[in-house]
Amino acid sequence: MADTTFTGTLEQNHAQAIEQAMDGLAIDAWIDGQSVSARSGERFETFDPAVKEPITSVARCEESDIDRAVTAARAAFEREWRTTTPQDRAAIIHEWMATLRDHLDELALLESLDTGKPLANAREETEDAISFFEYYVSVAQAHEGANLPTGDHAHTYTRIEPYGVAGLILPWNFPLLLTGWKVGAALAAGNTVVCKPSEEAPLSITRIAQLSAGILPDGVFNVVNGYGEEAGAPLTTHADVDKLSFTGSVPVGQLVMKAAADNVTPVTLELGGKSPFIVFPDADIEAAAETTAMGIYYNTGQTCDACSRILVHESVHDEFVAAFEDAAAAYQPGDPLVEGTEMGPLSFQAQHEKVSKYVSLGTEEGARVIAGGEPPLDNELADGWFFEPTIFDGVDNTMRIAQDEIFGPVQCIITFSDYEEAIELANDVDYGLASGVATGDMSLAHRAAADIQAGSVWINEYFGGGAGAPFGGYKYSGFGRECAKETLDEYTHTKAVGLSLDETDL
Ligand code: NAD
Repeated sequence: MADTTFTGTLEQNHAQAIEQAMDGLAIDAWIDGQSVSARSGERFETFDPAVKEPITSVARCEESDIDRAVTAARAAFEREWRTTTPQDRAAIIHEWMATLRDHLDELALLESLDTGKPLANAREETEDAISFFEYYVSVAQAHEGANLPTGDHAHTYTRIEPYGVAGLILPWNFPLLLTGWKVGAALAAGNTVVCKPSEEAPLSITRIAQLSAGILPDGVFNVVNGYGEEAGAPLTTHADVDKLSFTGSVPVGQLVMKAAADNVTPVTLELGGKSPFIVFPDADIEAAAETTAMGIYYNTGQTCDACSRILVHESVHDEFVAAFEDAAAAYQPGDPLVEGTEMGPLSFQAQHEKVSKYVSLGTEEGARVIAGGEPPLDNELADGWFFEPTIFDGVDNTMRIAQDEIFGPVQCIITFSDYEEAIELANDVDYGLASGVATGDMSLAHRAAADIQAGSVWINEYFGGGAGAPFGGYKYSGFGRECAKETLDEYTHTKAVGLSLDETDL
């Protein structure tokens, strides 16, 4: 692929990048090892949010296409994938990942164009996605059954068996990374997959499917592009799908769970968050400010585990706010293709409208905007869905800006006066995905880690963990764990086999 250095104007860079990225590339569905159009022939457009221009058109799948993909996945499961050993699967996935590494620049460019994330971040996330595929095939080789102590008269053991066809539905904010989290686990555990990417970011996932040609057996990994109700819903109701895993919003997660109930299909839900970060008075204030600025402004705030509420002790409030303003200033929006840009645009128009609406609402609710609060003044950036890094001070935890997932670059600062109040505020939301704590007192940190209702607690850091650290929600943030060895349990049955050791007349 040509050089991915961009030095022109925003418009020139994106025209060049779209031409370069889409050269000879068709984004259809990927079913049974081939690119196929939707049966209806319909297509939809996916947009570059930095310039609000269409990148390309994409196959618009619906029920009959989903059925075709599930049939291909079932056939591949029965024909070969279910009987491959974890070692066989590891060899195949490693070969696929080596191919993806050879196409790293191309994949990162597609991801950046489709989502608006800085190219450098897209590249790191693509590398992380590859690492997750590799992690899962490693741990799958040690995903063992057990010999059970049921007495001298019997030999009882467990077998670990894949479910079969996994239907995996993804959001748009981290398309490739979450593919690594979900598809990586499902395939490593021996399932075949039908994956429904978000209609807002279908490019990179479709491309990695194309790059599996000749490596993954046909039908093992299928990608069906399209809208939620047309392509996602038929996957959730399909009687031949054995496992569903969904990452996305709470309302759609609830629909998925209800649909899964009809066929008693097991489901994993990774949903939204409104994660708190508690700054205790003894914290390193400058470090806490930098960590929490990264925790909200990375990916323009469109991160499920963004720390979108800072709970700061009243005695260090002024010092913290000053440090946070400085740290936030490093996230000035800019062209995602240009080296050094820390924050790109919001990913699509509805996101931009939603963030603007919440900023107005916060002001009406009585919180004070002390930075940002609007699109940037820079004329060039008016071509895209950019938004300034925004800080609300004087936020009360009962306000909607403190309770709802805004999913944008908007930080809410709330004060507390003692430990009990900090924990009460931290837990007083519907969500429970992630959280952070800044303190030099490790006993206090561990006490808080026990008291906070969230799937992740990061102490003096944020977005910690990585492959091996389980990730998932409490409360409305969902259930099930990704990224860790127990994720394989989400994609496998445990079967108990008992054999009598008594003498028998048979
Ligand atoms: P969304 O719920 O709108 O869509 C997610 C996916 O569901 C898309 O592929 C969409 O097409 C599909 N869909 C929509 N309607 C459907 C239906 N009726 N049946 C089946 N599928 C349907 O979410 P989004 O806007 O794409 O993503 C943002 C949300 O995802 C945020 O709430 C964010 O917090 C959450 N998220 C969670 C995690 C996590 O690990 N917990 C990670 C990333 C994002």
